[in-house]
Amino acid sequence: MKLIYLDNNATTMVAPEVLEEMLPYFSKQYGNPSSIYSFGANVSKKIEEAREKVADLLGAERDEIIFTSCGTEGDNAAIMSALSINPEKKHIVTTKVEHPAVKVLCESLETKGYRITRLSVKSDGSLDLDEYRDSLTPDTAIVSIMWANNETGVLFPVEELAEIAKERDILFHTDAVQAAGKIPINMKKNHIDMLSISGHKIHAPKGVGALYIRQGTMFSPFLIGGHQEGGRRAGTENVTSIIGLGKACELAKLNLEKENTHVKALRDYLENGLLKNITNCRINGNRNNRIPNTTNMSFEFVEGESILLLLDQYGICASSGSACTSGSTAPSHVLDAMGVPNTMIHGSIRFSLSVYNTQDEIDYVIDVMPKIIDKLRQMSPYWREEKKICAQV
Ligand code: PLP
Repeated sequence: MKLIYLDNNATTMVAPEVLEEMLPYFSKQYGNPSSIYSFGANVSKKIEEAREKVADLLGAERDEIIFTSCGTEGDNAAIMSALSINPEKKHIVTTKVEHPAVKVLCESLETKGYRITRLSVKSDGSLDLDEYRDSLTPDTAIVSIMWANNETGVLFPVEELAEIAKERDILFHTDAVQAAGKIPINMKKNHIDMLSISGHKIHAPKGVGALYIRQGTMFSPFLIGGHQEGGRRAGTENVTSIIGLGKACELAKLNLEKENTHVKALRDYLENGLLKNITNCRINGNRNNRIPNTTNMSFEFVEGESILLLLDQYGICASSGSACTSGSTAPSHVLDAMGVPNTMIHGSIRFSLSVYNTQDEIDYVIDVMPKIIDKLRQMSPYWREEKKICAQV
């Protein structure tokens, strides 16, 4: 059975060009980039080339990029740095729909005495700018608001939000893990102070990421030890993965247009096909303000996990919004914050595409999904009740 991979917000395939670029640095080119002799210095040069490519994707300068172990590290490092350089400030502004990399860190900081403002979102996933303005105080150490939501793909106006923070001299960080490579980013044209990305969402390997730190922004390192990364992140570099991330950023820049034409067209085609062929379903999040590869759809009176299990039998990989992998059946905190109705919230599925997906694959999903939903609804007492009520009306 052919695998149809529609879970690219969870992780992506390592691009063949990325793997090829990395391979020599696993074997022949194993020097330590900190070594003085050319066998090591050549590796260091390659790391700097990778840094240049990451900077290029973000419209940044090379020395504004440090490599990290993942998106989570970038998010944590940015927030912890702001708290460390502003020890007298005890307030953080974020949203109700952040990834756990920010959400859980903020929960932990709350237990240590920090005050957290979590901005609410409207039913289409968007923020209220007045609520944001009102939340900023002289005690605010940092604002951390994601650029694109990992579950719905909805974009926040982070450039505008950063501008408002700057007027009040407050540091602004954005988690751009799902935005990088999917929308144009030019750090020369905004006032965002720090921005994190992750390799494995853009066809680089898992376990590598980057943090952008604007020139002149004070930064207190998260990892302390050696002098690597200009003293901003100690530890011998993950050379192969960094080289892979550089290549992936180069490809992402080349593929940006394809993301916004080919991938977007496939995503829209998938949505329209499912909306046409399945009753009682909806799209979660503003359709006109999303990254091009993501759709989050709810199917009334079915469980997202059951849909995933049946999709798996057809070789289709997608994702559900509930936190059931963590042992709880609690609905997604993102959809909950958006006020998705109870009958819909448990039946939500995220499909996230990539440049490697094809029209044939999407046609297959459009063919299979109605059968799956129908099968599950036949087993659902709630659905049978709903049908009875509809028949009586
Ligand atoms: N932030 C967002 C928006 C994400 O989607 C993810 C991963 O799913 C992360 C952060 C964490 O990235 P990583 O897996 O590289 O730690």
